[in-house]
Formats: sequence, structure tokens, C-alpha cells
Amino acid sequence: TSRFGDIAHGPSVEVFELVAKFNEDTHPSKVNLSVGAYRTNEAKPWVLPVVRKVEASMAADETLTKEYLPITGMPQFCEAATSLVLGADNPAIAEKRAGGVQSLSGTGALRLAMTFLRELCGAKAALVSKPTWGNHLLMFRQLKYEDVREYRYWDASSKGLDLTGMLEDLKTAPDGSVVVLHACAHNPTGVDPTHEQWGQICDVMKAKKHYPLLDCAYQGFASGDLAMDAWAVRFFASQGLEIFAAQSFAKNFGLYNERVGNLTIVTATPDALERVKSQIKMIIRGMYSNPPAHGARIVNTTLRDPALFAEWQGCIKTMADRVLMMRAGLRKRLENLGTPGTWNHITDQIGMFSYTGLNPTQVAYLVKEYHVYVMKSGRINMCGLTTGNIDYVAKGIYDAII
Ligand code: PLP
Repeated sequence: TSRFGDIAHGPSVEVFELVAKFNEDTHPSKVNLSVGAYRTNEAKPWVLPVVRKVEASMAADETLTKEYLPITGMPQFCEAATSLVLGADNPAIAEKRAGGVQSLSGTGALRLAMTFLRELCGAKAALVSKPTWGNHLLMFRQLKYEDVREYRYWDASSKGLDLTGMLEDLKTAPDGSVVVLHACAHNPTGVDPTHEQWGQICDVMKAKKHYPLLDCAYQGFASGDLAMDAWAVRFFASQGLEIFAAQSFAKNFGLYNERVGNLTIVTATPDALERVKSQIKMIIRGMYSNPPAHGARIVNTTLRDPALFAEWQGCIKTMADRVLMMRAGLRKRLENLGTPGTWNHITDQIGMFSYTGLNPTQVAYLVKEYHVYVMKSGRINMCGLTTGNIDYVAKGIYDAII
């Protein structure tokens, strides 16, 4: 007998479970629209050519060692990542009140900020959008936030943003709540506030003294333009708020398993920045001592070399354009088939995901009859579509609905 024999099984994580089922499925037309990663038009993962190139030069560079990185990561990388999200000419950088800490991808950056705010600032309440990426809720709960809430976000009738509901929920939350805001390409809905709406959100955040935690997992991937996708982060910083921005290089560099990210911090004073960083350093030390170097070297080298940087931007554009093409293609096919409902949301939504509006019964039908794997929420990854399977998927959606 084991002393752990009575431990309840943890729940499975839907996206990983669906991928496992997809891999076991032997149907020749199967399509995976659940995974959260880029796929080429051949439905294959893509290692960016610029990444391969940098890795080749790294492999040949005998000056690179396997020594530990500092606890807060590679300083040059943190600087480059911070500049990427805030803009190199951001006054907060010149004023030495903006900086970064290397993290275990976007998840790790979020976790560091959430831990810091809970343990060092006494934050007790946290808000995430309804719906949101499931890991936000899991992390707040694991960190024992006492009051974890969802703010209204998705409006099912308009298939757009419920701004009134969102603002109301931010206003009625306790002052000083930690609020996760998706900087761009909201996961799972693909619905982002307009610039004007961001202004209203920012005003409430300020009035309520909420802590903005901007989740920036898709910079460049959403629109193809790095500055455009970082607009909300830069806007918040320009409005005099002290912010945390969790950057991931999983999507925009295709470095999913390298776990490379940066927690960008903007404070009102340089002194505050140093204090915050020194405490986050202790959090890291106690959790995993220091981060891995490989991904950070790839990103740092690419961001600092103009030719490599241009090549990377080209790769981002390739990925973003393919998503846009699939959005347009799916909408057109659904409309041509006369699929009941409106389909403009497929092209209005931004980023890798689309919230189709399919209900759980329709999703179950798609999986069973078409071997098209979709999350229960109806979220689909546009990158799972290819010119080879898009007609088949559109027909499946049509059949699931009628
Ligand atoms: N935040 C959101 C909204 C995401 O969709 C993701 C990835 O799916 C992440 C953060 C972080 O991912 P990673 O930890 O792989 O960088």
C-alpha cells in the first residue's frame, strides 16, 4: 500500500488530452484545431529558419559555456525583450524605471508577478476575463488568492466585447485587485478592445488602484506588426501606471519548449524597480534557482542583429498572414455553404484563435463524425486549417450546425 493511495486524481488538461486523442486517431482526414501552436500549410510544426540559423552559429561558438545564468537571467536578453515590448525609445527605459527579469516563458512571467503581488504587496483579490486562458485561474488559486473573480468580457450575442460589463466588474471589485489583461489576441475569444476602449479600461484601473498584469503572449503574431501588438502595454505605461507585462517568445519565435520569456516591469521610480526586482529574484531562487540559457541566447542574438531581426520579422509576417488567410477562407466557405448564423466574427477576431460560437453538442459532433478536434468551448486554432482541409472543416461545421 502507498501512503498516497487516497490522493484524488488531478483533472486532465483538456488541450493536452485532445492532442493525445488526436494522435491516436487513425482516420485519414483527421484535423487538429485544438492545439495552441503554429502549424504550416502542411499541418506541420515550424522551426523558424532564423532560429535554425542562430542555433547553428551557437553550436559552432566554443566560447559559449553551460555555466549558470544569473538568478534573474541573461541581462542583455532582458534588456532587449523589455525594449521590444515597450519600444526602445520608451521614456521609462531612459529613466531607468523599466526593466525585465527572464522567466520560464509567459507562464513563468505571470507566475512571478502573481507571486510577488500576493506575497510582497498583500494583494488578495484577482480578476481574469470570462472566459480566459485556463492557466490564469489555476495559478491564482494555487497562490491562495482569497477572492478570484471573472470580469465579463465575451458577449455571446454580438460575438464581441462586453465593455459595459467589463468596466462594471472592474469597478465593483475590491480596490487593489490584480487584473489580468490580454495585451493582444485575446485567448480564447480573439476579441480585443479598441484603443478608445483601452482608454476607458485604463481609467478604471487607475481609479481603483488595480495592479495591471498584461499578458503579452502574442506580440507580432496577432497582426504581423510588433508595435501594433504591443500598443496596449505601451499605452498603460504612458498613462503613469506601474505595470507588469508577461512576455512569451513561445509563439512569435516558435520556441514553445525552450521556455523563454520576460517579465517586464515599469515602476514610477528607479528605486522601486530595483526593490521589486530584488524580491522577484528571491522568488526565483526559491523556485528554480535560475533559468535556462538556450532560448534566451537565440532571442537575444536575433533581436540585436539588424539582419537577423529583419529575417525574424519576415517569419512573423508569414505566420500572421497565414492565419489571416485561413480566417478569410473559412468565413467565405461557411457563408457560401449557407451555414446558419453570421460569420463575420471569424475575420473580425484577432490572433491564432477563433471563438466560433459552436456549442458543446456541435463540437462533440465534429469530433465524432469528422475527426475534427475542437475544444469544448468552440475555440479553434486557425493554424490547424490548411488549404488541404479547409473545405472539409467548413463542411463539418455546416453539418454540425444544421
Ligand atoms: N498567456 C496566454 C493567453 C496564452 O495563450 C499562453 C499560451 O498559450 C501563455 C500565456 C503562455 O504560454 P507560454 O508559457 O508557453 O509562453
